[in-house]
Amino acid sequence: MTTFDGLWAEIADVGRHRGTGGYRRYAWDDADLTLREWFTGAAGARGLDVERDRNGNLWAWWLPAGWSGDPEGAVVTGSHLDSVPDGGAFDGPLGVVSSFAAVDALRAEGFVPHRPIGVVCFGDEEGARFGVACVGSQLSTGALDPDRARALHGADGRTLAEVLGRAGVDPAGLGRDDGLGSRVGTFVELHVEQGRALDRLDRPVAVASSIWPHGRWRLRFTGEANHAGATLLADRHDPMLPCAATIGAARARATQHGAVATVGKLAVTPNGANAIASEVVAVLDARAPSEAVLGALTADLFADAAAHARAEGTEVEVVAESLSPVVAFPDGPRERLRAVLGDVPVLPTAAGHDAGVLATEVPTAMLFVRNPTGVSHSPAEHAERDDCLAGVEALTAVLRDGASS
Ligand SMILES: [Zn+2]
Repeated sequence: MTTFDGLWAEIADVGRHRGTGGYRRYAWDDADLTLREWFTGAAGARGLDVERDRNGNLWAWWLPAGWSGDPEGAVVTGSHLDSVPDGGAFDGPLGVVSSFAAVDALRAEGFVPHRPIGVVCFGDEEGARFGVACVGSQLSTGALDPDRARALHGADGRTLAEVLGRAGVDPAGLGRDDGLGSRVGTFVELHVEQGRALDRLDRPVAVASSIWPHGRWRLRFTGEANHAGATLLADRHDPMLPCAATIGAARARATQHGAVATVGKLAVTPNGANAIASEVVAVLDARAPSEAVLGALTADLFADAAAHARAEGTEVEVVAESLSPVVAFPDGPRERLRAVLGDVPVLPTAAGHDAGVLATEVPTAMLFVRNPTGVSHSPAEHAERDDCLAGVEALTAVLRDGASS
């Protein structure tokens, strides 16, 4: 058994739902706190010093012999341990487990680092509990305002500030990590692929070129609540109809623009089986290869929504919730990875990652491990063991290269 298998087995049951087989590891809940303890223990077992930064992210350091003071110019790897509701085992944990396994591989070969090696676990990447993704990394780069972060609240009504306080993290301390840029020389995140490109290419590992721009919008359709039996069809102003037509249009416009668009969340008022709705709110998630394409897609779709709303005598209001620009990973680290790993494929991704957030502050790169079905954010998410081990081998080579001078 490799150290990868051992580490993987240690966390396999944490936060796993018996019924669905999916993971429910939400930021700062019991499962997440157990995983954070596991991270600290795994780091300690390897003689790595662990520190928690002001935003609750955990950093484990392997410092060169004789190093004094804070790490500087480190080659850092890692990912996150939280999940979406009923998420898969690999999204996040594969990167963290592979990082420790790569450290073990370097130790086993007697590698002597000349610059610090770091393993990081970013807090609250998925945003499943508080609705904002990449909270830990966004706070550290200054992309997320600490006041806004403190006020975020989950379905249980508790604020992030309250939850952090209970976990022993001082919410007053949240904010930009001014030392990030000097501490981290390069950040490389290994992640399970969330797509089937590697399967099609029949290759186990790829490096990332870019992260597609990504936006989220609330479309609020308003009409008139009325009796589902007694109201003549001609008299209805049913917001469900333009909403449904707009969901269909989202698929058509995404196809037309070579993008993706999804409505995965609806809120219906009053949400009664025998009542015509008065209001339907649909949350649109759209991602495209470029910001121009994303802009064209949404402009077309919102025009469709307005036309559908008018046809039913209803109204629609569109509110932009978030917009993440395209992240083009810099050429330097990627070319270095390709030089070390040989001719690995280069792929874009339509999923957001901490590496994309950090890219504004430090040179970042990503490694993807093949996902044979492409399914992610689901219990069916999978990577073959051999491919995971190929990922560890690639990450080991990257760390060896990054820390050898
Ligand atoms: Zn992830």
